[in-house]
Amino acid sequence: MSVKSLNQFEKARRSVKRAEIEKLVKDLVKIPSHREVPTMELEVAHFLHEFLQGEGIESKLRTVVKNRPNVIAVIKGSGDGKSLLLNGHTDTVPPYDMDIPPFTPKVDGGRLYGRGSLDMKGGLGAMAMTLVGFRRAKAKLEGDLYLAAVVGEELKSDGTEDIVVHGPRADMAIVGEPTGLEIQPSHRGLEWLDVHFYGKAAHGGQADKGVNAITMAAKFVRAVEEDLKPRLALRKSKYTLSATINLGVITGGQQPSSVADHCMIKLDRRWIPEEKVQQVFEEIYDIFDKLKREDPRFKAKLTRDPANMLTMTHVPNVVSTSHPLVKSLERSVRSVTGKPPKVTSFWGWTDAALLTHFAKMPTVVFGPGGAGAHARIEYVLTEDLVKCTHVYSQVALDICGASS
Ligand SMILES: [Zn+2]
Repeated sequence: MSVKSLNQFEKARRSVKRAEIEKLVKDLVKIPSHREVPTMELEVAHFLHEFLQGEGIESKLRTVVKNRPNVIAVIKGSGDGKSLLLNGHTDTVPPYDMDIPPFTPKVDGGRLYGRGSLDMKGGLGAMAMTLVGFRRAKAKLEGDLYLAAVVGEELKSDGTEDIVVHGPRADMAIVGEPTGLEIQPSHRGLEWLDVHFYGKAAHGGQADKGVNAITMAAKFVRAVEEDLKPRLALRKSKYTLSATINLGVITGGQQPSSVADHCMIKLDRRWIPEEKVQQVFEEIYDIFDKLKREDPRFKAKLTRDPANMLTMTHVPNVVSTSHPLVKSLERSVRSVTGKPPKVTSFWGWTDAALLTHFAKMPTVVFGPGGAGAHARIEYVLTEDLVKCTHVYSQVALDICGASS
């Protein structure tokens, strides 16, 4: 980092206090923003927008779906440098049966507890405070530094699809999902699929007059478990964790004394960059063909689960480990944490894939550590909130460049 950058970083760093970062994350956690809240992300988006404006940062609300706006903020550069987008989602999963008060955040033993503290109001708060730091330090960047606080990541990625279609466009981006300060330039693609099995109803006392859809589903399950799953486990990737398949939901039949004429399985398939999405479908069709050869009455249909995707396929994310953003993150993590940076692969799917693939904005996942995303006890490490803010700040200066 140049002396000029270093000075600006020091100024930006000093201008933001640890307690302020924690307070912002707590304030974000206090506002429920999950799918069961009638106004969903609206209130938290307004809060963040007003917070940023209160700091003198240029911020606007862009409606994605009725009453569900993204917050787009920017520290404008002088126009010469590369631009960077910091992306985080404002929605969370519902509290379900949490063992802690979900929306009364509490800090205890270096952990900030609450629904969404880790996934991902922690990362989002650190990103917002990065812009605040630059603004307070009156730091001048060459390239633009954007913050996009997006809606619907836990649903259909509505917010990030909107960024892909309508901008803003940057040269590269960071998604602040929790990675425990590991740099994760890649992850698998994701398909949620529905498999419908069709039988023929009959009285249970005359079951041989019917065709049982549950029995067909059982044969399918067996083929997946005994044949497909072991093959996928061996399908290693150069970039990501191995391919997987998970049978998540099964429903079917009406009552005990009827032959079930319908059964459905919902499955989750994580595919590696070396696979093609067509292959995901073809392997299921191959099972159908095999089961049909064994029993010509076998009848099944495969469809995409309409619940998890708008228009863009959930492709894998692949950014080269030698990309300047990865290298910049490595340098920053080393200098902020004093430890050698770890470059690994994210286990889940994230909006990073949409930005990398469809917006041609190479995007890396990097965020704080903690535990319990989507679980009964969720927390983010407060120390990591501070470290993340510093890493994001250093990377922003590094990528965007300090202007005189
Ligand atoms: Zn998340």
